[in-house]
Amino acid sequence: MSLPSPRPDRGALEGYHSPQLDVSVRLNTNESPYEPPREFVDAWLEALRQVPLNRYPDRAATELRRGIAAALGQPAERVFAANGSNEVLQTLLLTYAGPGRRSLVFEPTYALHAHISHITATEVVTAERAADFTVSPTEAGLVIAAERPAVVLLCSPNNPTGTVESRATIEALLAAVIDHGQGLLVVDEAYGEFADESALELVADDVPLVVVRTYSKVWSLAAMRLGFAVGPPSIIEELEKTVLPYHLASATQLAGREALRFDSEMRARVDTLISERRRLAAALERLPGLTVYPSGANFVLVRVDGDGHALWQRLVERGILVRDFSRWPRLDNCLRITVGTPEEDDALITALREVLTEVAA
Ligand code: PMP
Repeated sequence: MSLPSPRPDRGALEGYHSPQLDVSVRLNTNESPYEPPREFVDAWLEALRQVPLNRYPDRAATELRRGIAAALGQPAERVFAANGSNEVLQTLLLTYAGPGRRSLVFEPTYALHAHISHITATEVVTAERAADFTVSPTEAGLVIAAERPAVVLLCSPNNPTGTVESRATIEALLAAVIDHGQGLLVVDEAYGEFADESALELVADDVPLVVVRTYSKVWSLAAMRLGFAVGPPSIIEELEKTVLPYHLASATQLAGREALRFDSEMRARVDTLISERRRLAAALERLPGLTVYPSGANFVLVRVDGDGHALWQRLVERGILVRDFSRWPRLDNCLRITVGTPEEDDALITALREVLTEVAA
């Protein structure tokens, strides 16, 4: 007897998964180093106690969407919520891409953009970022005009490089998408709150633009799996038709709603992480043999002048896990470091200083 083979067009996800090693300092998956406030957890659990568990959740996630929309100064009809921004992206591609359609990604970027394209049977067109990892609006415009992708996926701040695209670049991409008449620009702002630029203000009812965000990083709620999209109501309605009914558990919806009441605590965390990112980047710049790329996210990409993988290994031996991108195209010898607590970052800097001296000796 033989078992069936899976669809051959799903692509491979090899190399994406970050090893989950048991180390004391984990700076590899861009989570917040801080747990959410205790008062939030108590309020959420209290609210959860009132939920009739024999009933399905609110299918339209009405209160959650209303809350997210109010926090962003947007109408609720422009908000779609799902299990993490990955599910939001998958729903977007299932709805607007798929067989016979193309997505455009700007490499190097978040691997899931190409992967979700593959699993939704979307053909992936790849454009290259410039040497400083920004997207060239001129080149992007040419690719969009030539390839006519159904969905253009732009990650800003970009994972794993940290690059923030200017408003002018986003407007140029949007103009190119509008020009070809059938496309959708999706700006993945999973790290948007850590940057000065956002495409959120460009969202309008008649513009083919959707901005995607998540509770995983800023709201310290990676465990909850909650993300959302902000876009034209007609697009949001289409996403609702695609996604499975009752996909968002009551517990998740409640967590998202309760978290919004702790907005100032969350903002304080973002501010702390932004200052810590500046301190970390400055300390890394002072170390010999490292190039530090500018970042608008909660991580920093560095290029090692030498064997990046060997350096990664030596850090693991010292109980510090960062993300190894050293064998990725265009990212040779690069490591991505998530901003941690000051103590974690100090441990990393001390270890790096020792290891770099050893490697140089
Ligand atoms: N987009 C980007 C750019 C990311 O880095 C991540 C998290 N690694 C996600 C989306 C997915 O986040 P989540 O599904 O946790 O919301």
